[in-house]
Amino acid sequence: MIVDPTQDRSSQYLPMIFLPVSKKKAALLLSAYPTLVREYAATDGRRFTSVGISESQLKTASGIAEIDRSLPWRYRTKRIPVKMTPTPAMASPTLLADALSNQSYSMILGRIHGLYGGRCQVCGSDHRNRNGRRIAPRLMATWNYQPHANSSVKKGLRELIGLTAVCNDCLSMFSLGDARPCYHLAKESRKSEFHRAISHLSQHNGWPVDKVQAAITATRRQRRRWDDVIWASDISWLSKTGILPSEQTQLGLRAIHQDYTLWKGSVILDRTFRATLTAA
Ligand SMILES: [Zn+2]
Repeated sequence: MIVDPTQDRSSQYLPMIFLPVSKKKAALLLSAYPTLVREYAATDGRRFTSVGISESQLKTASGIAEIDRSLPWRYRTKRIPVKMTPTPAMASPTLLADALSNQSYSMILGRIHGLYGGRCQVCGSDHRNRNGRRIAPRLMATWNYQPHANSSVKKGLRELIGLTAVCNDCLSMFSLGDARPCYHLAKESRKSEFHRAISHLSQHNGWPVDKVQAAITATRRQRRRWDDVIWASDISWLSKTGILPSEQTQLGLRAIHQDYTLWKGSVILDRTFRATLTAA
């Protein structure tokens, strides 16, 4: 049954939890668990399928591994805690968007949003603009940082190991230990967002606020060791997972003018990193 949430009066009394799943997965869940899962009409023009279960049915649904795995991190039987992923000062948190061509980046966005139904994987929410059109979540890249074995050599390689679709609120939690926390927001709103993100993280992980603050301090301490390191970024994970084939991986013109280079088809180097190569 397809329900238009704007017409469905019962939904006012039935809080729904939306599952960030692809259309394919949505179809599977709908056919396998018709009494638990409901489909909502995609009214936003982006054609994402919204599938939801009611809060009252969550207990039953969580007992089913297939549904449990599809639930946003917050609602799983074994809740996935948010682990802060600090970005050192000289590593761009938005490298993929900044350096790749629009075409390459749109392919990545399309794949990730398709996999998670255009919703935030962490809280399951969607955000809409004034016209009711869904604002696609942001992409958060997770990198594995490998500094040079000799700590006096201030360069390193970071390897892309995952992408997560997250809403602005959830992205703030991940960035709390960064050199530029809440970097995705306008400068004037970052300070208030920082404090809001602390309570958001405390709620998500079920931690008291002082535990969150201790975790931020520890993350910052770890990150500062890498703040003066210049990073090359290995993005071969994108082609290995089929998210972006290597022949479609291209830098944008603006990035080329800013002196970014794609080395061996999968490592993004910037001018500063190349300077260290010549110096060595
Ligand atoms: Zn979220």
